[in-house]
This record gives sequence, C-alpha cells and structure tokens, in this order.
Amino acid sequence: MRDAFLDWATRDFSLLGMPFHFWTGVFFILGSMVGSFLNVVIYRMPLGLSIVHPGSHCPKCQYAIPLRLNMPLVSWLWLRGRCKNCATPISPRYLGVELLTALIFAATWIHWGHTEPVMAMCLFALWSLFIAATFIDFAHFIIPDEITIGGVILGVGATLLAPALHHQGDQLAALKSAGWGVAIGFGVVYGVVRLGKLLFGRLRLKFPAGTTLILHEGGLTTPDETVPFEEIFYRPGDTVIIRATRVELPDRCYCKAEVRLALAATPPTLRIGNDSFDPAVVRHLEITADEAVLPREAMGFGDVKFMATIGAWLGWQSTLFSLAAASLAGAVIGLSLVAIGRREQGSKLPFGPYLAAGAVAWILGGWSWWQQTFG
Ligand SMILES: [Zn+2]
Repeated sequence: MRDAFLDWATRDFSLLGMPFHFWTGVFFILGSMVGSFLNVVIYRMPLGLSIVHPGSHCPKCQYAIPLRLNMPLVSWLWLRGRCKNCATPISPRYLGVELLTALIFAATWIHWGHTEPVMAMCLFALWSLFIAATFIDFAHFIIPDEITIGGVILGVGATLLAPALHHQGDQLAALKSAGWGVAIGFGVVYGVVRLGKLLFGRLRLKFPAGTTLILHEGGLTTPDETVPFEEIFYRPGDTVIIRATRVELPDRCYCKAEVRLALAATPPTLRIGNDSFDPAVVRHLEITADEAVLPREAMGFGDVKFMATIGAWLGWQSTLFSLAAASLAGAVIGLSLVAIGRREQGSKLPFGPYLAAGAVAWILGGWSWWQQTFG
C-alpha cells in the first residue's frame, strides 16, 4: 500500500514536471486551508459542537460567511479582522493559526520533501493534531478524545505509509515500534499521573472546628481566602470534598455529612450525604467543617492518551524523551512566569503543549541524540 502510494506520489510529481518549490507553494496554501479548519476544530470541539455543520458563521450575529469571504489568510486581512455584517472583531488567533499551519507545512516540505516526501505529508497530519491539541489545552485544559484516540489511529496509518517516522525501513518493524509507543507512552504517563495524584494531587485544607465555609457562585470562601471555581474545576473528575459537621439548607439540615461538588462533570453535580442537588439551583451553601480537599494535579488523563498518540507516531523512545523535555520546559517556563509575576504559584498550566513541543524536539534532533547516547 505504501509502495503504491509512493508510486502515485512520485509519478504524479514527475508527470506534472513541477519544480520542488511549486509544491512548497501548494503546501503553504494547503496549510492555510488546514489551519482554517483547525480554527473551527479549536473553537467547536471542546464545546461539543459539530465541526462540519453549520458552516462558518459569525458567533455574534450568526451571519453565514460566504465562500468568497471564507478564504484563509486573505479574508481576515481583507476584512481587517471584523465581521462583514456586524463589525464584531474576529480574534487574531484565526489569522495566527492559519499562518502558523501554512508556514509549518511549507517548512516541513522544504526539510523532508527531497528525501522523505511521504513522511513529510504524514507529518502534516501530526502537526495538525499538535496545533489543535495545543490551542484547545491552553483554553480549556483538556485534549479531546477525537484528537488523542483519533491521533493513535492516524498514527498507525502513518506508520504504515512512512516507516521512516520510526526510523525503520519496513512496515512490520515500524508497526511494532508504534505498538510499543502506545503501550509505553500510555503506561509511563499513567504511572506518573497516579503517582502525582498520590504525592501532590490533592490539597488538604484543615480548619479549626466550627469553621464556616461558603460555597457560592464566586467560588469557595474559607476564613483565609476565596478560591474561584475556575481555579478548581478543569476536568470532569475534579471534585471538592468537604467533611461537614453541619450543612444548613432552607428546608433541612445535615449533620456529619460529606459534601461533594464536581462542577466540570456532565452534568455538574452537588452531593450532600446521600442526596443529589442541582448546583445551578443551590446558589449559596453554608457549611460548618474542619476539612476541605481540593483537586490539584499537573497532568490529567487527556495527557496520558496524548502520550499514546505521540508513541503511535514516533515510537516508545519518543514518549520518554517528550515527557522529560516537557517536564523540564514546563518547570522552567512555569517558574519564570511566577518570577515575572504573570502567574500565581500553584496555578494551572496546560501540559499538552509541552508534550507536543517535546515530540517536535524529538523529530528535529532528539532521535539522533538518543542514538548517540543509548544506541
Ligand atoms: Zn457578525
């Protein structure tokens, strides 16, 4: 199948007789179109909206963007970043993602087009996964399954088309490398996540007996501070647990009950003892308690699956390399942001973008370093 594809690809190139950089231009334009699609994915996928229907429209006035105004790069510049109908500003992120994807596609072709044209085209798909994962993780602290699990499936396909992704000459060896990549990528990061949860996954707050804690729309208020909910709830499993000695509701009262609040779950849940409530209805809850447990974690299960994606594409060595590089970069950048006051200590950083950057570093030089060091 790969040989057939390679035949088709090379025959087509020579048939058309186009110079190498004609294709650089083609892939730049292709990149801008893919980038335009990634913008839709980045905006809609985390919200659970369809990425194909309806077509592009202004989120403010619902104006359906006609095809002639839906051209990558050009349209945003032509309209100077505003909706044609209602003049609502359109985020420069749209232009940025289109330009970034276009430049990366062109650079990939220039770098690998001569020696590994099929691998270069497979890498277009990997970069697309990385760009979508990065922007979604920054905005929502999740990486959707469509990207991670879908990415594993794409990775197996790419492995068959371009065993060079695994630095292997034949498909069977490359497939084995992909299998180990999924297993070790998944297993190692899963272990790290579990260990992390055990070591610093939860923040346990102790209070003097009889302290009043208040859950309200703004967050959790303790005598010392108010912790906004957006700093607590990122993932469906994030749960605040309060061991209450007394909870007062307008119509009843609980003694010695556990209060569990999970606002990022679908649907959001509030449990007091054995009873469930709709958190949207209970706006204000006073709890007498001596202990509260808040979720805090560096990595989530999305990162575990994302690591399996990287392994499927690049082999098990790449997963260890990416994890180490990402942890180092995350620590350095996280501490620098705290130092220059752009970020509070202990606040959340998305980890997916660092893993993606680690995988890129693997492709660009990590592999040869690994060969020299361990090979
Ligand atoms: Zn509009």
